[in-house]
Amino acid sequence: MRMLPCEPRPRQCEKIMNVKGKVILSMLAVSTVIVVFWEYINSPEGSLFWIYHSKNPEVGDSSSQKGWWFPIWFSHGYHEEDIDKEKEQRQEDEEEKLQLSDWFDPQKRPEVVTMTGWKAPVVWEGTYNRAILENYYAKQKITVGLTVFAVGRYIEHYLEEFLTSANRHFMVGHKVIFYILVDDVSRMPLIELGPLRSFKVFEIKPEKRWQDISMMRMKTIGEHIVAHIQHEVDFLFCMDVDQVFQDSFGVETLGQSVAQLQAWWYKADPDEFTYERRKESAAYIPFGQGDFYYHAAIFGGTPTQVLNITRECFKGILQDKKNDIEAQWHDESHLNKYFLLNKPTKILSPEYCWDYHIGLPSDIKLVKVSWQAKEYNLVRNNV
Ligand code: UDP
Ligand code: MN
Repeated sequence: MRMLPCEPRPRQCEKIMNVKGKVILSMLAVSTVIVVFWEYINSPEGSLFWIYHSKNPEVGDSSSQKGWWFPIWFSHGYHEEDIDKEKEQRQEDEEEKLQLSDWFDPQKRPEVVTMTGWKAPVVWEGTYNRAILENYYAKQKITVGLTVFAVGRYIEHYLEEFLTSANRHFMVGHKVIFYILVDDVSRMPLIELGPLRSFKVFEIKPEKRWQDISMMRMKTIGEHIVAHIQHEVDFLFCMDVDQVFQDSFGVETLGQSVAQLQAWWYKADPDEFTYERRKESAAYIPFGQGDFYYHAAIFGGTPTQVLNITRECFKGILQDKKNDIEAQWHDESHLNKYFLLNKPTKILSPEYCWDYHIGLPSDIKLVKVSWQAKEYNLVRNNV
């Protein structure tokens, strides 16, 4: 005779069922917790959670940060390169959905160059529809990074104004991470950031010559992109500290690889540009070649593209060191060579980095960032 499981001793059976039920219930609870936690640490809110730990500056050396055990421990398995690739691919797919003509009208500024020969937009005030772009990028929940270096007296002289103005005008409404690289963290100015903004401070070894401080940024930025920035942001800008934001520097500036027109040269002929003209330098550009003169004070793009920019520029810088030559305008000469060979996908008008010493010609409708006075004798070690 086949016995039903609970027939002989119903009370004991009830007990077993009770235990079984509890086991199932707790397994369910545990798996729910795991699923929720997994989603959480992989979601933008999850990253928000740990990024906001850095409200107080976290100090690290040039390649790693201290006091970040929690996010590092958890993020290792999940933020592998393949996931980032996937994200970038998704972004490219989505970008295909938004056509250039949806947000950009080159005819709005007929008096200036608004399109390059390779069909990249040159973004001038009046040519873009920021609302359409805002809507588009808000859906993607992007995070934008901004690197800035202040070594020696550049800390006291420029950093606070740069950061407070960036806090106010850089990518308002989007998540932003400021990567601040200084040679002495104890001299970091105290700044209060708005919502969606966070920062990470790193201490770097100061070079002796200002030329090397400027050029070595290419190496350091590259190292930080590989070590962590690539996992933290969708777009990255790299800027000089001796400038101040004056107005919205918004999503219209985002692109795969972004170059800035140098204010003094935007109307000049390429043969007049101060490119490196000596054949011996890796930055050499012969007369008869060149598109624009780009300003090294602002460049950007996706982390992958910026990594390529900085790697190639640093390669050129090292090659020049080996050959005992230094390009006339240092990292800027190498950046110009890079963008000659690898055309930027977007160019920013000089309104995005204006020098008021030029005056204010009618081409300049709205200044977004302006140069600080060049007080080299006050801020540089070797003049
Ligand atoms: N820099 C620095 N300390 C120095 C020299 C340079 O922090 O002693 C950094 C700083 O971010 C600065 C950038 O390197 O904005 C480029 O140097 P600088 O702005 O003096 O060059 P310029 O714009 O005059 O060509
Ligand atoms: Mn500068």
